[in-house]
Amino acid sequence: MSTKTPEKHEFQAEVKQVLDIVVHSLYTDKEIFVRELISNASDATEKLRHTQLTEKAVHDADLKLEIKVESDEEKNQIVIQDFGIGMTRDELIENLGTIAHSGSKAFLKAIQESGEKNENLIGQFGVGFYSVFMVADKVEVFTRTWREDGEALCWTSDGSGSYEIQESDATTQRGTRIVIHLKDSYKEFAEKSRLETIINSYSTFIQFPINVNGEALKTMSALWLKNKKEISDEDYKEFYKFQSKAFDDPQFWLHFNADAPLEINALLFTPTENMEGFGFGRMEPSVSLYCRKVLIDEAPKNLIPEWLRFLKGVVDSSDLPLNISRESMQDSSLVQKLNKVITKRYLKQLEEKANKDPEAYDIFWKRFGIFLKEGVTSDFTHKDQLLNLLRFESTYTKEGETTGLGDYLSRAHESQKDIYFLFGPTRNAIEKSPYLEAFKSRNIEVLLTFEPIDEFVMNHARSFKEKSMTSADSADLDLEAVAPVTETDSKTEALNPESEQSLCEFLKTTLSDIKEVSTSTRLINSPAMIVNGDKMMTAQMKKMMKAMQKADGMPDADASIHLEVNPKHPLIKNLATLHTSKPELAELIARQILDTARVSAGLIEDPTELVERNYKIMEQLSETVS
Ligand code: ADP
Ligand code: MG
Repeated sequence: MSTKTPEKHEFQAEVKQVLDIVVHSLYTDKEIFVRELISNASDATEKLRHTQLTEKAVHDADLKLEIKVESDEEKNQIVIQDFGIGMTRDELIENLGTIAHSGSKAFLKAIQESGEKNENLIGQFGVGFYSVFMVADKVEVFTRTWREDGEALCWTSDGSGSYEIQESDATTQRGTRIVIHLKDSYKEFAEKSRLETIINSYSTFIQFPINVNGEALKTMSALWLKNKKEISDEDYKEFYKFQSKAFDDPQFWLHFNADAPLEINALLFTPTENMEGFGFGRMEPSVSLYCRKVLIDEAPKNLIPEWLRFLKGVVDSSDLPLNISRESMQDSSLVQKLNKVITKRYLKQLEEKANKDPEAYDIFWKRFGIFLKEGVTSDFTHKDQLLNLLRFESTYTKEGETTGLGDYLSRAHESQKDIYFLFGPTRNAIEKSPYLEAFKSRNIEVLLTFEPIDEFVMNHARSFKEKSMTSADSADLDLEAVAPVTETDSKTEALNPESEQSLCEFLKTTLSDIKEVSTSTRLINSPAMIVNGDKMMTAQMKKMMKAMQKADGMPDADASIHLEVNPKHPLIKNLATLHTSKPELAELIARQILDTARVSAGLIEDPTELVERNYKIMEQLSETVS
């Protein structure tokens, strides 16, 4: 049937309903109509390209395959034109008049049935086209099929109840030209720059050139869908800078494809620089989500875990519904599944790097290790994988060098049930602290941790390969059971049991504000130390408690202090006699020993008392010698 008089068609009843949903609630961003129409133009062009491979007789065989966009602010209209396969009258009715009929899906099915694959087609749901009615009060679709015997047609609708088809003499050129008459309230979309911005953000990776008012837009190849063998390092670097708007080079990248449980094509970049480390403030997760090369969301919140927020790149899944709106995307179980697969693959990449190229891993660790630590404290699912990736300095490494928990265990004593660590402000401060003496004399390795987050990391980690994470300042450490102390260290004589007991009693009465005083078997060179009786209570937490207590009369944090004294140390031995001969001086010294041990434990904020007492002691001592 061929006629010049308009032929009026009612939309199917369901089409009216769906139109209503599409126009009023499906999409949150009005601008996505551009994305949908460009995607359709790209699909039509791709179908033409595919058809040309086998069909000899194609109308206008020499037309350039590109997408032309024209904006006209005066007329308040946009034109989107392609030179693709076009539509016949029947196809117009079927594709634009029937709901959820995707000609693209049907095309793809036909290809697949003949045993081929085409990953370049975008459409599959058959609703995207209608999004144009969010912003338009009239749409004209001029179209001419690729078939030699086709007719030039014009489909027109205002998106309410019906559409018309009539023969058109506007052009006989192959392809489709869509004229969008914008509603007055959506004038903004007719601005060239606005239009360009939208196309640039959603359609940069469309495989055909796009022109806006005669000017070519910069498009880029969707690298993540290409075969790895065809991509050079330079290509990856250029892509990273372009897509992530980065100015460093990527440190490394992960390009992977998966078919099950989801179809995923992902390209993830680890930057060289940690911008957060530079003090740029907290980053937001920014890996972009695509569906068949078309942007769905530039920075979806749940696609990657918070603690991987330094990652850049693209995740493309053709299983994603292109028509989904951003809000519903955030919680979709699909996104959660993607998150799981991506995180696992990325951690696997880090593991491989750590094993095969420890030096490269070390560079990564120094800049981004802090994020993995954050992961340990916040992501229970990946804890074990993350623990394996942690690196610390230790009493066995040189300054600045690190070791992993696995390596630590490979060196541990056979009977060792714990992984020991000690927190402090610097390596030097930890190494000189009294806590390490017992470990040194037994050759037991201790991890040295200096970052504030480390205490929380160890607290959350709890254990690794069934060995508990134990702070070296804990009370009740039976190090003798782990490894015996070497001969030379134990030859100094200790106090006899009676003096030891009376000294302890003296100390307990003098220092009655603390919880406990006992003699130590762990100390070698230092006279005393404070041990931590509460495994869950880190020095950091104690400090916080002390600060809080000052503010609002909390119970005294000192009440939990356990002081251990070294019965072999000359100072302690002298004190054992001094407390009967010179009780006043002995009391001052006892207080001073406690406060000095507090300094070693990082528990002193206000040194005034300690300083004053120091002078008093010196004064009394100078009297005795002069
Ligand atoms: P989808 O793209 O998901 O299939 P749409 O609602 O966007 O759904 O489009 C419906 C159908 O209309 C497409 O599958 C295609 O067959 C047809 N179509 C839309 N735009 C064009 C075009 N520019 N050229 C040829 N056919 C088109
Ligand atoms: Mg579409």
